[in-house]
Amino acid sequence: MNFEQFFRSELDGLHEEGRYRVFADLERQRGEFPKARRHTADGVKDVTVWCSNDYLGMGQHPKVIDAMKQAIDHCGAGAGGTRNISGTTHYHVLLEQELADLHGKESALLFTSGYVSNWAALGTLCSRIPGIIVFSDAGNHASMIEGIRHAKCERVIFKHNSVADLEAKLAAADPAAPKLVAFESVYSMDGDIAPIKEICDVAERYGAMTYLDEVHAVGMYGPRGGGIAEREGLMHRLTVIEGTLGKAFGVMGGYIAASAALCDYIRSFASGFIFTTALPPALAAGALASIRHLKESQVERFAHQERVRRLRSALDRNGIPHLPNPSHIVPVIVGDAAKCKWISDLLLDNCGIYVQPINYPTVPKKTERLRITPTPLHSDGDIDHLVGALHQLWSRCALARAVA
Ligand SMILES: *Cc1c(COP(=O)(O)O)cnc(C)c1O
Repeated sequence: MNFEQFFRSELDGLHEEGRYRVFADLERQRGEFPKARRHTADGVKDVTVWCSNDYLGMGQHPKVIDAMKQAIDHCGAGAGGTRNISGTTHYHVLLEQELADLHGKESALLFTSGYVSNWAALGTLCSRIPGIIVFSDAGNHASMIEGIRHAKCERVIFKHNSVADLEAKLAAADPAAPKLVAFESVYSMDGDIAPIKEICDVAERYGAMTYLDEVHAVGMYGPRGGGIAEREGLMHRLTVIEGTLGKAFGVMGGYIAASAALCDYIRSFASGFIFTTALPPALAAGALASIRHLKESQVERFAHQERVRRLRSALDRNGIPHLPNPSHIVPVIVGDAAKCKWISDLLLDNCGIYVQPINYPTVPKKTERLRITPTPLHSDGDIDHLVGALHQLWSRCALARAVA
């Protein structure tokens, strides 16, 4: 086989479908976020980032940066081993305690990313509990899907956010089989929020465990940043709450929070936890500082929500259609892969506005979009500049306007 030719022809296919991914080569500027420098063939240009998951700008918060610097000065760069073999530092232990407390659980367990936490935790639960049936929301993130798939257990997909469909599917399953319901709180691409209470009610009726991915909510919702389940007083109803340290907390890493026995079980059996180097102590220290800060400070959350409202009303005034949802994610639907990429390129090259186009398979075809994520650090001027540019492009592209 001519391997090179094979790779190239596969890539050509992506180009033809308009879904070949191109990275923006950025240099984030500490103290300037959401402004960044972008490296291009024609030199370095200034851009405003409108698609970061550093939702609150914690990635440049002085407390986080100081904690990371101190940890490096104190104990060096890497963890030096897996958690089991010399890689557990006191920072990891403190961070797990902090996360357990954040979610009102007995324990928490760290992973190297949110992706790995979903893959490893679901993969382990679903492969090791004999006869388990997993009920997975149709909108679940790739990391959950891969974990469940890896487990090779029986799986049932229920309609996105549909409690009725979940209930019908639970009712149709063998009553004696152990069950797990896996879902998210805030869905990343539409920004809609699951009916957590109703899902817990149904799961409880059928004796199912519940596994909630709060990746897009931790740090941002609830009085201490515990997520949607905290805001709604439901944390105790969930068997497992999973989160990331890489989005609103501004650093990197993932975790689950659950009972002591469940966390100990995953710690003891999950390959994706056991056989990999622990997070660097500085990352754990930075995450700890970030979580502690957001447990006490509402300033970032309130400012974030105010910016989201301001952006939405500016879009409305200009007739730019965006999906209505109760979260901080502002999806502007273009509905065509090539146009979506074209708009994104023009925004970047002509206006210094960086919004990555979101195309299939991340979202269904015909729902290609710009996924805009305002932060507390976007100014009124940034918002006006973005909406003004979109307004002009909408006219140029003859895209549909929202009817006021
Ligand atoms: C980003 C994301 C993850 C993965 O988290 P990382 O820490 O980035 O690996 C998991 N679940 C959802 C819903 C996500 O959007």
